[in-house]
Amino acid sequence: MTDPAFPPTARRFEGVGFSEIVRVRNRVMELLAAGRKVWRFEGGEPWMHTPDAVKAAMGDALVRNQTRYAPSSGIPELRRAILAKVRDRNGIPADEESPIVVNGGMQGLFAGFAALLDPGDQVLMFSPYWTPIADLVAYHQATAVLVPTAPARRKGLTAALAERVTPKTKVLYWNSPANPTGDVFSSTEVEEVAAFARERNLAVISDEAYEDLVYEGEPHVSIASLPGMAERTITAFTLSKSYSMTGWRLGYAVVPKRYQSAVKTVVLYTTNGVSTPTQWAAVEALARGTEYVASWKEGYRHRRDRLVEGLKAAGFEIEAPRAALYLFPKTPPWLGPDSRQAARTLLDEANVATVPGIVFGPEGEGHLRFSFSVSDEMISGGVEALGTFASAASSR
Ligand code: PMP
Repeated sequence: MTDPAFPPTARRFEGVGFSEIVRVRNRVMELLAAGRKVWRFEGGEPWMHTPDAVKAAMGDALVRNQTRYAPSSGIPELRRAILAKVRDRNGIPADEESPIVVNGGMQGLFAGFAALLDPGDQVLMFSPYWTPIADLVAYHQATAVLVPTAPARRKGLTAALAERVTPKTKVLYWNSPANPTGDVFSSTEVEEVAAFARERNLAVISDEAYEDLVYEGEPHVSIASLPGMAERTITAFTLSKSYSMTGWRLGYAVVPKRYQSAVKTVVLYTTNGVSTPTQWAAVEALARGTEYVASWKEGYRHRRDRLVEGLKAAGFEIEAPRAALYLFPKTPPWLGPDSRQAARTLLDEANVATVPGIVFGPEGEGHLRFSFSVSDEMISGGVEALGTFASAASSR
């Protein structure tokens, strides 16, 4: 509401939402505070704690008084470790200045869009998509042009993109493995999208938050590793999921030369870098490579499969996704197709918290997102609550 007695909020906030997932979490908090037991599947973070060696590295940095301003794009030790990682593991031909340390994947994405978008530009993105992306695009007064993923995969990604590209299209947002579906695009699909970006002269923002959480099949492919792509791709990585460090807010963007100055400027004038002791913890984490996540995979797979089974038994149609932390089934007939209503019913009547699919775009309507990265107890209790509610609801 604007009040003529005061200057209004900047117009760039029009159309920018404030995470509905956070609103679901707030509602869950209220119920918990009121003494209700809630079976929580609405989250999106690893269930285990940050590894001890990583925590200890931060403590050591504090003892060494590594507490002062660092270069705003990151301490050299961490940037070197990132460079080695993205060259060796992701196959991205990055240069020494490419890695820019940021406050989580979120700041890398924000800086990427800020570096590239002018008002009126269009961004191609597959849908369903991770909710904040549409808000980041709106914040920069650009337009998200949605490409429904499932039909695009059936008829070919190139054809689906070609139908929607316009002279105003500047950026393609790419997220594989994907939130909320857990889909991993095949290497052939990645090649197709890369060829499209090169042909149409698009920049790519590649969100690889779930790169290490692929449970079977073809491994993850970084789009910037393909010929001619590192020059036009900003890749946003994060330690949140790979090292169970969601609260540390540590990520890195891998940025081609022509966009480095813009991304560095955004970081400088927003946060002026990441806390110095946190960066030392990240040096330790990266030195461990995929050791931790490899040891967690079996636990993820086991949780995923138990929750898939439990949902099937309650009447959901669902196949196990190959990656990430989520199941994204259609709502069963006894819940109806309106996902907000379905999520509300499950929370109010079965004490089961989920995220309504509609928040991930129109293609998410009729679905619910469940995180399987929760304790075994949560899965057992939640599945039982769902089963009891499902049989009562379907016999009504
Ligand atoms: N991208 C995707 C697709 C995500 O799901 C998330 C976290 N939920 C992020 C980026 C950012 O994570 P963070 O800011 O914690 O690094």
